[in-house]
Amino acid sequence: MTAPVLTRVTGALAEAQPLREASLYEVVRVGHRGLLGEVIRVRDDVATLQVYEETTGLEVGEPVERSGRALTLPLGPGLLGSILDGVGRPLERLAELTGDFVQPGARAPTLDPAARWEFRPRRQSGDEVQEGDVLGTVMERGALEHRILVPPGMSGRIAQLDAGQFTVTDAIGRLVDGTPLHLAHDWPVRRPRPVGARLPDDRPLVTGQRVFDLLFPAAEGGTVAVPGGFGTGKTIIEQSLAKYAEADIVVYVGCGERGNEMSEVLREFPRLTDARTGHSIMDRTVMVVNTSNMPVAAREASVYVGITIAEYYRDMGYRVALLADSLSRWAEALREIAARLAEMPGEEGYPTYLSNRLGQFYERAGRVTAIGGPAREGSLTVIAAISPPGGDLSEPVTQATLRVAGALWALDASLANQRQFPAVDWETSYSLYADQVAPWFVQATSPDWPDLRRTVLELLQRGQELRDIAGLVGPEALQDTDRLVLESARIFRELILGQSAYDPNDASSPLGKTHELVALAVTLHRRALGALQRGLPFERLNLGPIRRSLAALRGAPASEQGERAAAARTLIEGLGAEALS
Ligand code: ADP
Ligand code: MG
Repeated sequence: MTAPVLTRVTGALAEAQPLREASLYEVVRVGHRGLLGEVIRVRDDVATLQVYEETTGLEVGEPVERSGRALTLPLGPGLLGSILDGVGRPLERLAELTGDFVQPGARAPTLDPAARWEFRPRRQSGDEVQEGDVLGTVMERGALEHRILVPPGMSGRIAQLDAGQFTVTDAIGRLVDGTPLHLAHDWPVRRPRPVGARLPDDRPLVTGQRVFDLLFPAAEGGTVAVPGGFGTGKTIIEQSLAKYAEADIVVYVGCGERGNEMSEVLREFPRLTDARTGHSIMDRTVMVVNTSNMPVAAREASVYVGITIAEYYRDMGYRVALLADSLSRWAEALREIAARLAEMPGEEGYPTYLSNRLGQFYERAGRVTAIGGPAREGSLTVIAAISPPGGDLSEPVTQATLRVAGALWALDASLANQRQFPAVDWETSYSLYADQVAPWFVQATSPDWPDLRRTVLELLQRGQELRDIAGLVGPEALQDTDRLVLESARIFRELILGQSAYDPNDASSPLGKTHELVALAVTLHRRALGALQRGLPFERLNLGPIRRSLAALRGAPASEQGERAAAARTLIEGLGAEALS
């Protein structure tokens, strides 16, 4: 049998022959340097390979070595805090090994082989265990209980299970049939990890951003698409979510828009602090980043690496948020690979299977019961930025995403230009979860939550219509009640839904504060309407001081919220008193 060699190299793709038995997505080592690659097509005895590393210098005739397995990732303690490349290699280790410019073919294990973890067994010899059962725990980064699970597909009776200090490659015990047990296990990244039951989308992922929590809530285990042109605030939103959303674990997948964007993210992210603990958010974060020197194929793989890690923590029973910025870059990688394969192009050159792939990716989100015991619920919420060229939502990636995502937070360039942040276009945006999560919000805040939400949406809508009319005839030509609607809509837009990521007191808005601000502003509108109906002219409403009191409440530190809210309420209750006297 002849050994396979390269017969062709074009960019990130190569062909090798003879490779008749290779299976789709099997990992191969390509060339003398052993570049990491994957089989993406087999025809007769010719295999097409996508290579995850820089192929410059790779030549026809160089050897290709099969691995016999798909792209897998070791899952175990030590993932938290790590920054991985698109195929799961820790960037820091790579840099230590090869200097700043990652040497192609460099091998660096995902999990630090030298790190020792204190394992506390929860099961003992003689116990019968099933896939997904918690064998024991280790503490990860001092804060998170990392549950060591029986890997999917494994079951049996425990012959031995030891407490003590172990590395991820040490055996911590074995089953009666001799199968060794470890702190880590491998998983093929393109295959979804098994779950027990899927649970309904009736719990929100509270984000701390008023516009999302109130108007377009994300469900825990749901999927959200965040399309927006350049500079509309996608990255700031992802960072705010990483800091403040009520997730136990954040997996960030970065596919930079500009060349230097990933290095900015790499500098900034580790400096962000977790508002709940005061520690670095890296304690509960895993980053998978595609630096600009990695070829497109690695970008294609990175979303699977990210979501596999997210599923792993979900299986332990945690609430995981997967934040991707941006999936358009991933779709472009698909397009580039498809073009090189000379596949039949679909819309705008994207492969015809684009929607299919996106669908399969979003399918991996969900709130579930985990397999194995003790009983655990976990969730994986996907919030993915999209960067449609020119902010045009009719392009294929956005459209394909909209068919599968449960909520849309559409960002608008003209709002961003007006410094209205988050620049969410409330006319286009939606959440299919709103009705299902409403009872949860009622429980968490107050029975009027759904009513407030409806009122705000209506006011914004009517305000928009009136703004268009006022633009033609001038606001003075409007009736007083319409002028009030315009004014109230402005208060909602600027004061209630507007939220600066740079205001330390308002970067995150707890639900109680969100409810208070919204309820006060709605009361303000209703009172003012009453006063107008009793004959007070619009000019005499004197809304300025009230607006300032709401702004003061919004920007006040938590300790002064009560006092500020009382002050605003007093002003609002006194509104239009003149009309009565
Ligand atoms: P994108 O990722 O969509 O290109 P960014 O997230 O980088 O956009 O945001 C661009 C700029 O908009 C930021 O540098 C910031 O000045 C401003 N911005 C975005 N969101 C907010 C916000 N919530 N509060 C204040 N400023 C914001
Ligand atoms: Mg960005």
